[in-house]
Amino acid sequence: MKLYCDLHIHTVHSDGLLTVSEVIKKARENGLHIISITDHDTVGGVGIALEISKVEGIMVIPGIEISAESKDFGEVHVLGYFINWKHKNFVRYFEYSYESRLERIYKIVKRLNDLGIRIDFSEILNEFKKDGNSNLGRPHIAQILVKKGYVKDCDEAFDNYLGKGRPAYVEREKISVEDAISLITNAGGIPVIAHPGGKLSLDYIIYLKRKGLMGVEVWYPKHTEKDVEDLLDLCNRENLIPTGGSDFHGWGKRNQFLSIDWDKIGFSRLK
Ligand code: AMP
Ligand code: ZN
Ligand code: FE
Ligand code: FE
Repeated sequence: MKLYCDLHIHTVHSDGLLTVSEVIKKARENGLHIISITDHDTVGGVGIALEISKVEGIMVIPGIEISAESKDFGEVHVLGYFINWKHKNFVRYFEYSYESRLERIYKIVKRLNDLGIRIDFSEILNEFKKDGNSNLGRPHIAQILVKKGYVKDCDEAFDNYLGKGRPAYVEREKISVEDAISLITNAGGIPVIAHPGGKLSLDYIIYLKRKGLMGVEVWYPKHTEKDVEDLLDLCNRENLIPTGGSDFHGWGKRNQFLSIDWDKIGFSRLK
């Protein structure tokens, strides 16, 4: 029997729209057998996903997507799979990123206010009811801007205000890509570079392999055929694990799962 998977999915624990149980239900309806929950900088949804998976008959790989920073390439995302999600490193890392994200949201709201936009910090907290294991990000502000009619959609919110170089953009302190890789490895996980196509050089990925990187997200909606070919080739040459996923968020353009043949994923060959 063929198995199908999607290894890059966000939930309400970061900036996804659906809860873990809604994601799992939808994944089942879409014929997926294996998924990974990979929320930004948190493992808040993993425990419940593993619980639900037992009754729903779907396999869940505990995951995370860490927002890191590279000197040469700016913001770089690192996925972690098969992580020991209860590891104290993640608790510590989550606290750090939660605080820095909250602080940044506060600063962005102030900038928006200076631009004449009436929005307040508590409104965002109330709307998304973030508790101790969920993260806030710019997409949450974007959704409020849409709701209040300041922009027509989230893309416009990023284009006009929130994106890098736009008037309400605020930088956030992030860990280095090398540290993100170590964080994952030290918690028993497999670090995989997220959506490198069109952004990172192959040489940089090879450099990261020397720093402990173990895999590359090859199949990704925004990757061109050439990206996929080059990245798969790189995986074969460098003995890196090819993975793939949709980056499902449940809103905007990222509202559809990928259905990848599990045999193509390098994990299927791991013992
Ligand atoms: P943050 O985690 O707060 O830095 O926000 C970054 C997240 O915003 C990314 O991981 C995407 O999920 C989302 N994002 C970035 N650019 C856009 C865009 N143009 N439209 C919608 N979402 C975006
Ligand atoms: Zn996101
Ligand atoms: Fe990402
Ligand atoms: Fe993502």
